[in-house]
Order: sequence, then C-alpha cells, then structure tokens
Amino acid sequence: MGVYSDNPRQQLNAAWQVATSALDQWAKQVTAATSEAVDKLDPALRAALEAARAVVTGNWGACQCPCVTAHPQDQNVCEGGAIMTRRVAGRDMSLCAPCAVAQGVAEMRR
Ligand SMILES: [Zn+2]
Ligand SMILES: [Zn+2]
Repeated sequence: MGVYSDNPRQQLNAAWQVATSALDQWAKQVTAATSEAVDKLDPALRAALEAARAVVTGNWGACQCPCVTAHPQDQNVCEGGAIMTRRVAGRDMSLCAPCAVAQGVAEMRR
C-alpha cells in the first residue's frame, strides 16, 4: 500500500499538498457534527491529519484508539473509521484522523 508509511510526518507532508479542497469539505462535516470536541485540537495538526485522510481513501476498518486513555481530553472526537496506523505500545494501531491528532496533542501536553 503506497500510502502506508512508518513515517507519519512524511505521509502528512505529502498529504498536505492536496489538502485544500478536501479540508474544506471535512470542515463542513465537522462543523455540523463534532465542532465542539474538535475545536479543542490544534487546528494545524487537525488540518494536516485531515489532509492525510483525504489522500487515504481506502477502507481501513475501525478505529482502534482507546480514546478514554489515549486522549482523555478529547474523547468525543473519534470518527470510528481508521485512515492511518500509528505505533502504540509496541503494536500498530489503526486510528481515525481525529484520534491520531488527539493522541499527538495529548503526548505533547505531557
Ligand atoms: Zn480516540
Ligand atoms: Zn478514533
């Protein structure tokens, strides 16, 4: 799978270049659904992750994020549909975009 990468930053950098229109669409969805929760996330990070989601259009299955423990301050952001994997506690975890962002934010707060 070409988009599957062990380097999330690289993946996001590539995704960023095609982000603009997709991000627009997504922002509208989020505004309708979960704006309150998502607003807690850093906008730049969120945008980058959403750019990745726009690129990764395949079906990745369900998000495996343990939201309550991984990002307790943004538990409600989960979309359920994984778009990337992240190495967590020694194994690959499928994550949806908001969860991946929320986890990153949570780690930075530590
Ligand atoms: Zn989560
Ligand atoms: Zn999730």
